[in-house]
Amino acid sequence: MSGLEEFRDELETCFGTSCGFCERGCPVYQAMKIKTLCMKGRNRTMLGLLQGKFEISPAVVQAAFECTLCGNCDRWCSLKNTEHTRAFREYLMKHGVEPMKEHSSILLSIKNYGNPWFQPRSARNRWSRGLNLPKAAPGQQDVLFFAGCTSAVTKQLNKGLVASAKLLQKAGVKFAIMGQDEPCCGSTLLRVGQTDAFKELSEENIKKLEALGIKKIVTACPGCYTTLKKALEESGSKIKVEHISQEIARLVKQGKLKLKKSSERMTYHDPCHLGRLGGVFEEPRDIVKAVANLIEMPNNRYESRCCGAGAGLQSAFPKLSKDLAAKRVAEAKATGATTIVTSCPFCETQLRTVPGIKVMDLLELLLDAVESGEKGNGQRNEKAG
Ligand code: SF4
Ligand code: SF4
Repeated sequence: MSGLEEFRDELETCFGTSCGFCERGCPVYQAMKIKTLCMKGRNRTMLGLLQGKFEISPAVVQAAFECTLCGNCDRWCSLKNTEHTRAFREYLMKHGVEPMKEHSSILLSIKNYGNPWFQPRSARNRWSRGLNLPKAAPGQQDVLFFAGCTSAVTKQLNKGLVASAKLLQKAGVKFAIMGQDEPCCGSTLLRVGQTDAFKELSEENIKKLEALGIKKIVTACPGCYTTLKKALEESGSKIKVEHISQEIARLVKQGKLKLKKSSERMTYHDPCHLGRLGGVFEEPRDIVKAVANLIEMPNNRYESRCCGAGAGLQSAFPKLSKDLAAKRVAEAKATGATTIVTSCPFCETQLRTVPGIKVMDLLELLLDAVESGEKGNGQRNEKAG
């Protein structure tokens, strides 16, 4: 038994229960109010397919893909709902459904360029130029800083990586990077249902990482964090995976980074992959609290609302994706905060599409405070706000 069939009992449980608790926090259902687009309806659709009660149709494909895999439904339910949706997408691919045209290029790009964004391999190295970072070599390092495709090949997102590397250097952490040889973690393939391609890529990645003899991966990308962590744990590997906020929050606590705190009001947006799906809620908050005045949005931590960029929604359903971003920004503005701080390249780009509030990467914010602390000139307070 594998794939969707593996979840048949859970789908029947949902059908019998039909409680609808999952509707409350589902950003897609709350925006669209279409019953097939929340887990209650989607689970029924999957069960109907397995029971042969209906066939694959455009509405069925829409029900599979119009979901950000944000995991809010798992918060309200003991069933593994996001796993159902991922298996649903895989089931459709295996039954001859073409990937959504917006998603079909992902595999091609990863095969040709090593990233999902059709950027040349050399672009992955660009962010680290001038930083004098050692390249990982077998047996030469314990810690690998894993940049992730999106931040590495997108010029506007390079700042967060530069800040991460500088902060690690300032705190005396010895680490290396893979540069141009860093592979794609395959997260996007997994989310859009291309499971076989993901498994192949992931097996290759594990071999490459093991060959480096590293003990720990520190990554700046929440998608890489959850994907690499799960893949390495399932393979029995001893390599530990941490998100950069975990490593840096510890260094701040140990007093290894001298920083200057401002009184600026800032709010923190939990990236779904880092928070609900990765279980990292407090370390990013510890960093924001160390440098500014943290004001929580009503929907925070497990109840945080997705920015709308995840799981291919941004490319396949841009209008809905934008609406979700606008809702989240409106929630942030209502707190009176001047800045939304986040720690995910997708969330950062997505939230920036809505005008009216500053959006900042967590590590960029911290580097700013550390550099002000080093100068001891108190400039951050005046600059902020
Ligand atoms: S998915 Fe869970 S919360 Fe939603 S209707 Fe089914 S059992 Fe209830
Ligand atoms: S993963 Fe998020 S968008 Fe998808 S059904 Fe669950 S709550 Fe809704």
